[in-house]
Amino acid sequence: MPREAEYWKPVEHDKIQCLLCPRGCVLAEGRWGICKARGNKNLSMVLPLYGQISSMAIDPVEKKPLRHFLPGSHTFSIGFWHCTMRCPFCQNWEIAHPDTEGDPDPGGLRLEPEALIHKALDSGCPSISFTYSEPCLHAEYVLDAMELARRRGLRTILVTNGCINPEPARRLLGLCDAANVDLKSDSAETYREKLGGDLETVKNFIRAAAELCHLEVTSLLVPGILDRPEQMEAIGGFLASVSKRIPLHITAYHPAYRWRTPGLGRQATEAIAKPAFGLLDTIHLALPFPY
Ligand code: SF4
Ligand code: SF4
Repeated sequence: MPREAEYWKPVEHDKIQCLLCPRGCVLAEGRWGICKARGNKNLSMVLPLYGQISSMAIDPVEKKPLRHFLPGSHTFSIGFWHCTMRCPFCQNWEIAHPDTEGDPDPGGLRLEPEALIHKALDSGCPSISFTYSEPCLHAEYVLDAMELARRRGLRTILVTNGCINPEPARRLLGLCDAANVDLKSDSAETYREKLGGDLETVKNFIRAAAELCHLEVTSLLVPGILDRPEQMEAIGGFLASVSKRIPLHITAYHPAYRWRTPGLGRQATEAIAKPAFGLLDTIHLALPFPY
């Protein structure tokens, strides 16, 4: 199922540049982007993973997490492969960071958008969620599927790191009924140096999502990354500057991928989250289980 890629341009005389995320990879012939999902073949961008689904399940919508959009319903959920960022504590690392550069068939199943939407409608769920790894990396497929979903009366949900350039971001959000966006740190340096992302891009994504669809935000408390009350105060303050009505989910991490530090305890979690209360109308605090 070939699909022409969008969001790239030719540069110099023998390279192309990807315009999807702020990394802006410049690719010589035969090379793959940092995400390992988009590459240069014959001076064109190729999408070998268009329609390649890593995971599929029916989840409570609260698991996304979304608490204020179709509450009590289930959502037909799919994930893809790879990610635009590289969080060392990635909770979905098996599908976000497989060692399968450019492999058109890393596993799972391949579905045309039409077949996917049929499956989602057959499930009886009122919505489809693009979730698990990073859906915006597969913007062309998600756009195609969202357009079909909209036409068939199926609501659309995007669960994303928000690290995508403004043009594709606004197109995706324009077809989206609800989004949950990660805000992983208040620090541009942490985003750049530790997570492989860009804070200002994520903030702009959050501003656009607040304008274009229902929005909830998630901040995962990770020791060594996001573990201080003043950081949560900055995050709460930024969200309040967009809208005090954005629900914030503060969630607890568990050791995964390359981050082996034990999770924060219940008391520490409450203390770190505390400054955000009072800045926003709604905060959902998921306390870790007691050890
Ligand atoms: S989407 Fe992938 S190829 Fe494109 S700029 Fe980002 S990391 Fe590079
Ligand atoms: S943005 Fe999400 S999927 Fe991507 S590396 Fe970070 S935690 Fe993993």
